Amino acid sequence: MRKKIKIGKPFIKENTDSLIFDESIQLCANVTMENPNNHKIESKVCYYEFDKKYKKYLCDNRSDAFVMGLLTTAMENDMDIEFESPISEKLYYQLSTYYIPLVSKNNSSYPMYDIKIAGPTDNKIIKNEKAVATGCSGGVDSFYTIAKHTSNDIPKSYKLTHIVCSSSGTSDFTQERVIKNFKNTFDEIQKIADDCNLNAIVCYNNLYEFYKVPFKGFQTFANTTYGSIAFALQKLISIYYLSSGPSLTYFNMDINVNGVGDASSFDLLTAQCITSENISFYSTGMELDRIEKQEYISDFEPAKKNLKVCGAYEYIKDLHFINCSRCKKCIRTMSHLYVLGKLDNFKDVFDVEYFYKNKNKLLGKFLGIDHGYYIKKTSDMGKKYNHKIPLLAYFYCYCLYKPLKFFKKLLKDSKIIKKIYYKSGIDIKINGYRDPAHEFNKKNK
Ligand SMILES: [Zn+2]
Repeated sequence: MRKKIKIGKPFIKENTDSLIFDESIQLCANVTMENPNNHKIESKVCYYEFDKKYKKYLCDNRSDAFVMGLLTTAMENDMDIEFESPISEKLYYQLSTYYIPLVSKNNSSYPMYDIKIAGPTDNKIIKNEKAVATGCSGGVDSFYTIAKHTSNDIPKSYKLTHIVCSSSGTSDFTQERVIKNFKNTFDEIQKIADDCNLNAIVCYNNLYEFYKVPFKGFQTFANTTYGSIAFALQKLISIYYLSSGPSLTYFNMDINVNGVGDASSFDLLTAQCITSENISFYSTGMELDRIEKQEYISDFEPAKKNLKVCGAYEYIKDLHFINCSRCKKCIRTMSHLYVLGKLDNFKDVFDVEYFYKNKNKLLGKFLGIDHGYYIKKTSDMGKKYNHKIPLLAYFYCYCLYKPLKFFKKLLKDSKIIKKIYYKSGIDIKINGYRDPAHEFNKKNK
């Protein structure tokens, strides 16, 4: 018999023991399924938690949020989904006819199965407040969406009103740590909302408890889980922008060949498939490359004060800026800003002095280790703005960082080389901090 995820009728519950909010409200549903980590059948409540003021906007007469939130775990673990309350008819049609079979068919090297979703459907329009929202991480893609959709180029009914900060996409599985990191994040997102005159919606959810650790599917095919939050607030939101990573030039449904390693290369299709009678999704930023988005936001005041791209800040002690300015993501962003001639605009969030002192090495590292997608167009932009990449940077790229990248690839397969690499602290010598991947593996052994 086929494995199944059974979703009960959604219900609303006040949570008096919230670890996040003073007064909170949850949209819940009982979910019964095989836990993909221990393979035991479990029944537990899946929930989306918000500040209590959002109570009137929660949609408890549709299963949309829960089907969307659990879709990737169902596809990753080959389980059908059954739900008691209806889902929006258009959503049902598009997920079952296009999204599920297409994602499954085009990702043969990663198991995303062609599952069935079954239950009642409803095509009635749900009255809502016509809010326009987007998820916000504080990174380049988010800031592009915010800058663009608060500008005068955008018609009134498409202008942003809310930004969403959620715990979806976490790489952790211990509630205490997830909450601790989430609280830090939402203080930062609240500040961005204040600086942009937007409302911040904070959503904590426990979707990660239904996913296979180490969350490959949860993080790779993340837009259905992010979009599920809009469906939880279906009486508030009518437009939701998914900030896409790569430009549409890189459209590809296979995560193993698309050059970015996740589903963001087919956001256009995902946005189309999860658009319902009540909420329209758009893939914003697909019209530009990353460096062009940085060009767009480089004079946007809230970005200059709050841009955060760092992937290693949790691992570095005595951090003086919100971005460590040492990790791959920081170096990528600073290199782009350098060739655009806009790095000084971001001196409050990056260690610009450190970059200038080590300019050739850091530009060489960017060219040597980053994905082709991010490197492409960089030298063209340098020529356009008369900030060409120095020859010495190419020397570091080919004589140091490319060979090191090759060596790191070997590390993956050799326990002995890995031991020598970490024991002698080569990662610290190269990066200036302990490799987060090593820390994570050690912590969770
Ligand atoms: Zn960093």
